[in-house]
Amino acid sequence: MNLTQLPDNPYLLLTPGPLSTSKGVKAAMLRDWCTWDNEYNDLVQSLRAKLVSLGGRNHDDYTTVLMQGSGTFSVEAVIGSVVPEDGKLVVLTNGAYGNRIAQISKVLKVNTVVVDFGEVGQAEPEKLREVLEGDPEITHVAVVHCETTTGMLNPIEEIGKVVKSFGKIYIVDAMSSFGGVALDVADLQIDYLVSSANKCIQGVPGFGFILAKTEELKKCKGQARSLSLDLYDQWETMEKYNGKWRFTSPTHVVRAFYQAMLELAEEGGIEKRQVRYRENQRILVEGMEAIGFRALLPKEWQSPIITSFYFPESPQFTFAAFYERLKKEGFVLYPGKISHADTFRIGNIGEVYPHDMKNLVQAIENNIFW
Ligand SMILES: *Cc1c(COP(=O)(O)O)cnc(C)c1O
Repeated sequence: MNLTQLPDNPYLLLTPGPLSTSKGVKAAMLRDWCTWDNEYNDLVQSLRAKLVSLGGRNHDDYTTVLMQGSGTFSVEAVIGSVVPEDGKLVVLTNGAYGNRIAQISKVLKVNTVVVDFGEVGQAEPEKLREVLEGDPEITHVAVVHCETTTGMLNPIEEIGKVVKSFGKIYIVDAMSSFGGVALDVADLQIDYLVSSANKCIQGVPGFGFILAKTEELKKCKGQARSLSLDLYDQWETMEKYNGKWRFTSPTHVVRAFYQAMLELAEEGGIEKRQVRYRENQRILVEGMEAIGFRALLPKEWQSPIITSFYFPESPQFTFAAFYERLKKEGFVLYPGKISHADTFRIGNIGEVYPHDMKNLVQAIENNIFW
């Protein structure tokens, strides 16, 4: 495949996924791939092993399940498969994705307690301690790592310590951080970590994946509230039949993801990727502040993934016009999602480099029309 023959994208996606991917990732999808033979199954097995390795040093206690659908499907597969009928889930939330976990849980008729820290409040381990002390029926705790609604990083290490001091099961939605922020699932005492193909691994949308503590997952047989989203069954089939998916798998997306994993290794792994993301984010915020914008969150809570900015204080400013102008300049931004303030978001993950961030800030400065 001659990559120079692929068309250039008319703009960079500065969104939290789907995001800008490399030409290599796109090229991997330009042929048809067989799903049922050994070659494909071996590739799936190799991906599963690589994902466990990305989750830290302790490979023996963890396993991976790949699940069709967008990231939310994988979150739903976890909630619906791992919390038993007589279980009770506490969801710590500070944005749309935490709220979505709570919504999934309620739709599935799981006994649910929601602890809301507000859109610009960090999840607090001490508050969780109080809740667990007051309610011994709780069996599971779920939290989002990078709350993509604002760009907030939640303190998953401290939360994990509280969860485990009460002997509960720990579920982390690391959708938008896994692959872009180095973490070790065993050190963090996570039982189930959820992420998807089209975020920091820089693949395209179509499936999610779950890193699971094998001993815990083994207890979930026959417990799922859904057939297609049965995490245990999907895992068992992949284990027994060497990487086989139960139902049609997104072959092109899996091949593209495999290519994305090779490119992640070429870049130097998560450690190196997170350096690039941090640098992207630093250049973005410093540049934006220099031309008069203000970030929503304090720096110590800010993830290296996506940043929320307040609208400029001008009655002439509209996000729609700002968005259209920048799209013409080759940059696609992301609207805000919080209710108490007018904000927009800029993602800095994907096939995006520090020079792109400099060019973006320059383009914004050139287009200050309000
Ligand atoms: C992207 C994302 C999801 C999943 O969203 P989908 O649209 O279903 O892929 C879940 N949680 C977080 C924190 C996310 O950033």
